[in-house]
Amino acid sequence: MQKIMAINAGSSSLKFQIFTMPGEEVLVKGLIERIGLPDAIFNMSFQNEKIKETRAINNHGEAVEILLEQLKAHQVINDLNEITGVGHRVAHGGEAFVASCIVTDEVVKGIEDVTSLAPLHNPANIIGIKTFRELLPNAVSVAVFDTAFHQTIPEENFLYALPYELYEKHHIRKYGFHGTSHKYVAQKAAEVLEKPLEKLKIISCHLGNGASVCAIEAGKSVNTSMGFTPNAGLMMGTRSGTIDATIIPYLVDELGYSLDEVMHMMSSESGVLGVSGISSDFRDIEIAAEQGDSRALLTLRMFTGQICNYIGAYASAMNGCDALLFTAGVGENSPLIRKMVTEQLSYLGVTCNVTKNNAGDMIISDDNEAVKVCIIPTNEELMIARDVEKYAKQTIS
Ligand code: ADP
Repeated sequence: MQKIMAINAGSSSLKFQIFTMPGEEVLVKGLIERIGLPDAIFNMSFQNEKIKETRAINNHGEAVEILLEQLKAHQVINDLNEITGVGHRVAHGGEAFVASCIVTDEVVKGIEDVTSLAPLHNPANIIGIKTFRELLPNAVSVAVFDTAFHQTIPEENFLYALPYELYEKHHIRKYGFHGTSHKYVAQKAAEVLEKPLEKLKIISCHLGNGASVCAIEAGKSVNTSMGFTPNAGLMMGTRSGTIDATIIPYLVDELGYSLDEVMHMMSSESGVLGVSGISSDFRDIEIAAEQGDSRALLTLRMFTGQICNYIGAYASAMNGCDALLFTAGVGENSPLIRKMVTEQLSYLGVTCNVTKNNAGDMIISDDNEAVKVCIIPTNEELMIARDVEKYAKQTIS
């Protein structure tokens, strides 16, 4: 039995889970929030215990030290050498990383080289990797890239219609994100539907704070809605999604915004929050829409309409769709969003059974329909742990 840790380090947070493998049981999970502030919060839950402590945590290095101390103090782990592998979610792997890999000094350098493509996320990921390599030198470190699954997207789908040299010299192209999640739910759907993944045309909708749609043919990503950055594609909690790029110089030159202000607006003040003027959280939007708020209703129509546009485009590109998947916070928990999306897709043979949808069943399409509509809870951490287990085995054998 191996104990494997999955780490998801954000700019001011660090999520962790330890799995016992191969049983895939969760031994402990937690979240360290507000890193860098005097009132950072350490949350951890294991067996029936829950721990929450507010304390100063200055940086990610300190966060990892505290995490390891707490694991020992609460006897979740008696000897840190029991942790045989650590998997790190890495936001951007550029074109260099087409799959997960064992972290070496060259890999760290490779991740550093593409930092300008993910300036908020990659630095936090690198600090997480370095700290764990230092504090747990005997554990195998594995990097799992959000972009890797999308490296199978063909050139005609990943290129922007800009001068070709921008791609050749500066790697400006669509990369796509949420890859670990799209891959996991596609594999899980094949299991649930008892069909080989190689035979399925899948459209996966990862709808959380960040949201993306992915076309998956024979288990491979062939297109996705996010692009060069995770700001592209669908409108999201606070992100605008794709807009006419020329709006940006218009805001700067004609309306006097600075470029920084526009970027902040597009990533933190737009999307669901910007259009509704209420909240970035769909629970608040649904309540307001029910009470008749017209902007909340408009937000729901825009969001679901955009999802349908991608689904229609991808179904047409793949010449069909066998399974439509909903995952992440909104996809897994909102019967209303699933209903609004599926209602617009009857022309594709998509159905949504009211009882199954409201109950949150795994398959919510009507019985015997050709297009299976599924709710598949995502589990990026488990996917990371599986990759670590796979690569750790290779180093041992
Ligand atoms: P992240 O992208 O941060 O990982 P999640 O996948 O956890 O996000 O999704 C978080 C979002 O899920 C929340 O902002 C909220 O809008 C939405 N959500 C959670 N539960 C529900 C619900 N019952 N109904 C509608 N939306 C929900």
